[in-house]
Amino acid sequence: MKRAYTTIIIGAGASGLMLASLLEDKHDTLIIDSNIKIGAKIAISGGGKCNLTNESVEASNYVGEAWFVESVLSRFDQEAVLAWFGQRGVTPQIRKDGQYFCQKSADEVLSVFHRELREVDFAMQTVVGVVKKVDKVFTVETDRGTFLSEQLVVASGGLSFPRIGASGVGHVIAESFGHGMTTTAPALVGFTLQPEQFFFKALSGASLEVRITTEEKSFRGDLLFAHKGISGPAVLNASLYWEKGQIEIDFLPGFDWGLLQGKKQLSTILPLPKKIAKAFLDYLKLSDKAAEKLTDPEKAQLKTLQHYRFAPAGTFGYTKAEVTRGGVKSSEIDPYSMMSLREPNLYFIGEVLDVTGELGGHNFQWAFSSAYCCAEMFNGVLDV
Ligand SMILES: Cc1cc2nc3c(=O)[nH]c(=O)nc-3n(C[C@H](O)[C@H](O)[C@H](O)COP(=O)(O)OP(=O)(O)OC[C@H]3O[C@@H](n4cnc5c(N)ncnc54)[C@H](O)[C@@H]3O)c2cc1C
Repeated sequence: MKRAYTTIIIGAGASGLMLASLLEDKHDTLIIDSNIKIGAKIAISGGGKCNLTNESVEASNYVGEAWFVESVLSRFDQEAVLAWFGQRGVTPQIRKDGQYFCQKSADEVLSVFHRELREVDFAMQTVVGVVKKVDKVFTVETDRGTFLSEQLVVASGGLSFPRIGASGVGHVIAESFGHGMTTTAPALVGFTLQPEQFFFKALSGASLEVRITTEEKSFRGDLLFAHKGISGPAVLNASLYWEKGQIEIDFLPGFDWGLLQGKKQLSTILPLPKKIAKAFLDYLKLSDKAAEKLTDPEKAQLKTLQHYRFAPAGTFGYTKAEVTRGGVKSSEIDPYSMMSLREPNLYFIGEVLDVTGELGGHNFQWAFSSAYCCAEMFNGVLDV
């Protein structure tokens, strides 16, 4: 392996692999990654089936500067992503809520990248440390020596899932070149509980459909009671918009209160799994009686299940989070080329930036779209 390249890409994840695949001239490109295999996160994504993108991708599905997100997504949108993979024999299918998954497994996506990147050099199991620039040349120091390049792409992701390579090195590199960062936090992750909600723990393993509302956004979907707290798609999405403070859970979304009459018992009428209904009745200190025997104050108490407010203690953290919210400030990045506005020939793509998507394929879409913008620059399509 030679040591001086035109382009070095730090990170063999979704964004780095897509960028290298889109390059018209792949010679003289090196991808460095600390993992043994490329695309480690792709391999485990979407329950092993990789949720590649979504039927509906809008800037409003992301936390980030809307104009910046919109500009990047519009250049290589979900249809373009599907077409690109389709031309390479991968035809993802919608499985639920507009989410496109691989037909059999994430290997379908990884095989495409393996085929596309035969001409690219890889330095796998190589950990990047310090990056400097001397006389217009980037020096990338790793635990396996130093590599040089004329242009450097930081595609090293965020802080989530350290067990498959996440290191935060991209943030450190950005700061060393004078970039600002927005506050980072684990996102698309479960919530831990305060002692008042410890009664949830007895429900571990049970799930139900809820609506969760944060200060910014509301999500309807499944909530899973977990050993450590609450999880499931609605919770994960809510975590993206939660900073601190209260959330509100509607445990009975759309319930018709007119049904609460007659001789049937509450636990039979309430549209909740029996175990959950009983736990909530216990919590409200209501007996599981015939609906017709409910007093008005008791009905009012039951209705609080539609407005259950509490402040999570925190989240399950980066070891469980699917993504990192926040990162390198996009206001210091050119959205057409993804080049740093502070340092010529330094680029940032993917999750390392302060753009984070909701569940459903939005984060891979972001990784691919931002990679595309950068590739257009390298392919000489952009006149910057
Ligand atoms: C369990 C899980 C499931 C997910 N499922 C989905 C899904 O189905 N759909 C979706 O859209 N999103 C999903 N995501 C989110 C998605 O995987 C990421 O947003 C996306 O991979 C980000 O791409 P990236 O290229 O920016 O970073 P990454 O894919 O994280 O790639 C960054 C690479 O940089 C390497 N690296 C980091 N630091 C160093 C260093 N110091 N030296 C060398 N190499 C380094 C890492 O090893 C890694 O391979 C999931 C995430 C997780 C954790």
